[in-house]
Parts: sequence; structure tokens; C-alpha cells
Amino acid sequence: MPLYEYRCPACGVFELLLGMGTAGREASCPECGTAARRLLGAPGLSRAGSPEARLIERTEATASEPDVVAALPSGPRRPARHSTNPLHRRLPRP
Ligand SMILES: [Zn+2]
Repeated sequence: MPLYEYRCPACGVFELLLGMGTAGREASCPECGTAARRLLGAPGLSRAGSPEARLIERTEATASEPDVVAALPSGPRRPARHSTNPLHRRLPRP
């Protein structure tokens, strides 16, 4: 169902999830009940293709289509797990 945006003169913009073609030009505000006018624009499409929408789609896809790697990533090696600072050798050991 598409998301429609309405602007209440008192409370500001709010969104309603309505069936396709059932959104009227006005709807009562869920906060105060005042008649709010519908904002023009593509319903439910405003976030499509945006960085946050792509991130959500990619995160959801990891559940069913996780990325599989065939080899370890090339590039700089991970830092050593122990310190190479000579001063750290003087620290008391457990
Ligand atoms: Zn309102």
C-alpha cells in the first residue's frame, strides 16, 4: 500500500498508509482531528533509490542472499594481535 503525506495546519506533515486510489484530498489529522490537505508527490516512492533505502534493502537481502567470499580480502594485513611497542614488555604480566 502506498504511503500518502498530509499536512495538518497545526501539527505539520504526517503520513498515512492507504490503499491505492483510496486517498482523499483531505484526511483528519491523527493528533488533533483537523482536516489536513494531501501533499502532492509520488506516494511511497519518495525514498526509493535513496541511500537509506538501498541500505535497508541490502541489509534485508543478507538474510536470504548473503555475500559469499571465495578468498580472503587482499590488501594490507591486519595489525598484529600483540603490541610491538617495546615499552609494553615492561608492563606487569598476569
Ligand atoms: Zn493536527
